[in-house]
Amino acid sequence: MPRRGSFPSLLRCGPNLPFRFRYAILAWYQLTEVEKALINTNEPLKILLLAAEVVPFAKTGGLADVAGALPKALKALGHDVRVAMPRYGRIGVKKFDLKEALAPFPVPMDDSSEPAGILQGTIGQDVPVYMVDSAKYYDREGIYMYPDDAERFIFFCRTAVEMLKQMDWRPDILHCHDWHTAIVPNWMKTIYADDSFFAQTATVYTIHNLAYQGIFGYRVLEVAGIDEYGFIMHPDTADLNEVVDFMSRGILFADVINTVSERYAQEILTPEFGERLDPILRDRRDRLFGILNGIDVELMNPATDSYLAANYDVYNLMRRHENKLALQQEAKLPERVDVPLIGAISRLADQKGFDLISQIIDPLMNNLDIQFVVLGTGEQHYHDMFSDLASRHPDQMAVFLTFNAPLAQRIYAGSDMFLMPSRFEPCGLGQMIAMRYGSVPVVRSTGGLADTVKDFNPTTGEGNGFAFEPYEAMALYTALVQATENYKHKGEWHKLMLRGMTADFSWSASARKYVDLYYRALATKGKEHKLEEYELTRRG
Ligand code: ADP
Repeated sequence: MPRRGSFPSLLRCGPNLPFRFRYAILAWYQLTEVEKALINTNEPLKILLLAAEVVPFAKTGGLADVAGALPKALKALGHDVRVAMPRYGRIGVKKFDLKEALAPFPVPMDDSSEPAGILQGTIGQDVPVYMVDSAKYYDREGIYMYPDDAERFIFFCRTAVEMLKQMDWRPDILHCHDWHTAIVPNWMKTIYADDSFFAQTATVYTIHNLAYQGIFGYRVLEVAGIDEYGFIMHPDTADLNEVVDFMSRGILFADVINTVSERYAQEILTPEFGERLDPILRDRRDRLFGILNGIDVELMNPATDSYLAANYDVYNLMRRHENKLALQQEAKLPERVDVPLIGAISRLADQKGFDLISQIIDPLMNNLDIQFVVLGTGEQHYHDMFSDLASRHPDQMAVFLTFNAPLAQRIYAGSDMFLMPSRFEPCGLGQMIAMRYGSVPVVRSTGGLADTVKDFNPTTGEGNGFAFEPYEAMALYTALVQATENYKHKGEWHKLMLRGMTADFSWSASARKYVDLYYRALATKGKEHKLEEYELTRRG
C-alpha cells in the first residue's frame, strides 16, 4: 500500500479526474488497513449529539429535524446515543415530562463559574435528551437573536461537556452541529487536550448552513477560557483574522467534518458557496464529507398524520384532494380541485430565492391559472412583499406569516407542487417532505436540492420534479410553466407523485453513513495536523 500522505501529489497530478472521485479516494486513502478494519466493525458507540434546537422541543428549521431524527435512527442501529440542548423557556417542564437528571453544579465561565442544572426529556423510545437549565441564559421568549448569544451557547456547550464528568459517561463521539456548538472541538484540542476523561473521545462537526457562522469579538475567547490561544489567522481569510468565527473553529479543530449533502460538500470548497471559509475548507478537504439528511418518516407520514383533513397513502391517493379543498378553505382561496396549487414553506430569507419569485410573481399570476399558499417568517421586506401580493391577488395568493408546524403539514398534503428556488441549499428538507406527501417539487438545482430532485423528462418519463439551473427569474418562470403544463396530463402527473411518495427518504441509510463517519473520526483522532501545516498563525 502506498504510504499515507503521498496521495495529495497524485491529486495534483490528476486535476482532470471528476472531483467526486478524487475526493472519495483521498478520504479513504489516508487511513491505514487497521483503521479501515476498525471502521468496518459494528461495535456500538457512545455518542453525545449537541444541537441548539431539537424536534419536538424547539425548532426554527431543518437543524431541529435532523437533531430529533438522527439519534432515533442511530439508536435503532444499536448505539448508545444521547442528546444535549438548552432548556429554553418555551420548553414546558410539565408538557414534556422533564425530570431532573443533575442538580445545579458550577460550570466554568469567564474567570469564575455559573450554576447549571440538567433536566432530562426523551425522544423516540428511550433516547435521553439532556437540557441545560439556566434561567439567566435561556428563560426567554425566543431561541436566537440575543446580544449575548455567544455567551449563551458557550455556556450550553461547557455545561454539556462538564455534565459528562458529573455523570461519569465517557462518549466515544461528541457530534456537534453548526456554529452554536463549534467551540467544543476547539476545546478538545486546547483546554481538554490533556484531560484523560476525553482521551478516547473524538469530535465530528456537521455544517448545516455555512452562511450562519457565529462571528464575535475577542471577548468571547475570555468567556470560553481560551484567550491564551488568541485569534486564528489564515493568510486567505484576512477579514476574519481579527474576529472569533465559531464556524471556522469547528472546521479547523474537529476530527472529521461533514455537511448535509454531497453536492454542498463540493460546493463549499469554492468561493461562490464557501462564504469566505473556502480556503480553510480546502485545507481540511481530506476530512470533509457529505451525508444527505433523511426525514423522520414516522412523524412525516400522510397515512397517519393527525393534522390532515384526510389520511392517504399510495394505495388510497384519491382521498388526497380532500386535503387540497380543506387547505383552500383554510387559506380562503376558491375551492377548486382542478387548479394547480403551489405551496412554499420556508424561512423568508434571501437564501431561499424569494428575490426570484418577486420578479416573476405578477406576470405568473396574470398569465397562469394557479394558486399559491405561502407559510413563512423572516426578513421584513419579504413579509411586506407577500402581504402586498395577497392583497392584490386575493383569489390566487394566501400568505401565513408565522411558524406553524401543523399548517405546514396541511400545505405539504394539500398542495400539488412545492416551490424551493433556493440560491443555495445545504440539504433542504422541505422538498423531501413534500415528495413524501405527494407534492411535486419545483426547485433550483443546487446543494441537496440537486441531490434529491431530478428534472422531469416527459419523453423518457424520468425525473421526480422540476429543476432549473441558472439562478435567474426566467429560469424559474419556465420551470413553473413546465410544471403547470405537465399537471394537465393527469396520468403522467400521478406517476410523478407516486415516484416521490415511494422514494426512500428515511434516515436508515444516512445513519449508517454517520456511523462510518464516527469510526473514521476515532481513527483519525490523534493524527491532528499542526495548525502551522495549514499555514495558520495564532496571535496571542
Ligand atoms: P432551513 O433549515 O434552511 O430553514 P430546511 O428545508 O432544511 O430549511 O428545513 C426547514 C424545516 O422547517 C422544514 O421541516 C419545514 O417544514 C419547516 N418550516 C420552515 N418554515 C416553517 C414555518 N413557517 N412553519 C412551520 N414549519 C416551517
